[in-house]
Amino acid sequence: MLDDIFDYMQNLREGPVWQSAPADVRQQFLQPLPRQGQSLEKTHESFKQNILPYAIGNAHPGFMGWVQGGGNPVGMLAEMLAAGVNANVGGRDQMPVEVERQITRWMAELFEFPSTATGIFVTGASLANLIGLWVAKTKALGQDTRKLGLHEDQRQLVAYTSAGAHACIKQAMDLAGIGTQHLRVIPMSTQFELDCEALRTQIQADRAAGFTPFFLAGTAGTVDVGAIDDLSQLADIAEEEKLWFHVDGAFGAMAILAPNIAHRLRGIQRADSIAFDFHKWLQVPYDAGFILVRNGQLHYDSFAAAAGYLRREQRGMAAGSPWPCDFGPDLSRGFRALKTWFTIQVYGAQRLGEVIQQTCDLAQYLKTKIEAEPNLELLAPVSLNIVCFRYRGSQSDLLNSRLAVALQESGIVAPSTNILPQGLAIRAAIVNHRTNAADIDALVSTALRLGAQIVEELAASK
Ligand SMILES: *Cc1c(COP(=O)(O)O)cnc(C)c1O
Repeated sequence: MLDDIFDYMQNLREGPVWQSAPADVRQQFLQPLPRQGQSLEKTHESFKQNILPYAIGNAHPGFMGWVQGGGNPVGMLAEMLAAGVNANVGGRDQMPVEVERQITRWMAELFEFPSTATGIFVTGASLANLIGLWVAKTKALGQDTRKLGLHEDQRQLVAYTSAGAHACIKQAMDLAGIGTQHLRVIPMSTQFELDCEALRTQIQADRAAGFTPFFLAGTAGTVDVGAIDDLSQLADIAEEEKLWFHVDGAFGAMAILAPNIAHRLRGIQRADSIAFDFHKWLQVPYDAGFILVRNGQLHYDSFAAAAGYLRREQRGMAAGSPWPCDFGPDLSRGFRALKTWFTIQVYGAQRLGEVIQQTCDLAQYLKTKIEAEPNLELLAPVSLNIVCFRYRGSQSDLLNSRLAVALQESGIVAPSTNILPQGLAIRAAIVNHRTNAADIDALVSTALRLGAQIVEELAASK
């Protein structure tokens, strides 16, 4: 198995980025529950034939869709070890909990948070953002709301984020029971950053109308174009208005490791909470999201609950309180910290920062190439590692949605799409450490070739 998967990783470039599984392969997964086992060899063979070739392809250097990390072999081996140990990292006196605490301390160091800051691994930034919002809610309404619920409180909480924020912020408002109608979506500047003047105006209007502003979510690296909000100014506003200042740094927060980019995150050090992923720019295998909270006591007070069967002791296996389960909704939790710890130990923060810089340099290279091609048009500023562009032509949205599909089906390069003010864009997010200049060249040349074909097809079908 190890030999096979290393071969796969080494030869990724030779296969297609992605291919859709044919019907006969899908058919294999409609079988009834096996009553008797079959050999490991046969099962592994089925994995090689029916699963491995039909993954989405984010490990492949030509993958540029959405914002997904490439993973790394060291993290993969650590996953195997973690599965062998089979640690349940909900709590108790065990070193796997200490590994997670070590990561928390490293992150506190990186973002200049106090040593009393707390943090836990979660599936991804979606859940991390929810936890940030949840702690802010406890801060705003008091611990009693955990018992009383929102309806007992006369105050109507309202939160703020930009139109460029990820949809999970809105979802967090829904899940927290505050309601998406109480999220104020503030417009963006031409640079796709939250408009701070519009934010101030909205907060005043809400206070005048009797609402209780409580939460401000800035974004470090928007998912659409990779913009970074003016976090310093947001921190000022949050301080003046006594709002919880949260940063969704799902991928962008890790740019703190890249010396030439880190200064653009200035202000993140003043956040009350930061949500981010190790599985994106840090290349840790999925899944590895993280939430860091400045006020550890408040974080604890937002989730900890006494239960007789989770009694704590000074000694014995039930020692070591507080436990990770006191800081989030999960009780049983896997050992996500190990693959993260291995990745950071083996490669070191500097080299991981260099990978982040490299993907941003490639984005600038792609930008320059697009600007030099009369048939291509850049649709947004290239702030980090995301490049939005389109092929010029009539029926632009149709043309470019077809082009994105054609690129994905080519197996050569795989961008995704998004909707910008000018219309549908092809969006190349360069996240994978394996991506190089040849992949960028392939994206441009394949887009030009397939784009010209689609223009002809559209003209013929008129
Ligand atoms: C990816 C992303 C998310 C969601 O993170 P998951 O790990 O997919 O849950 C949230 N915000 C931004 C800015 C992202 O890029």
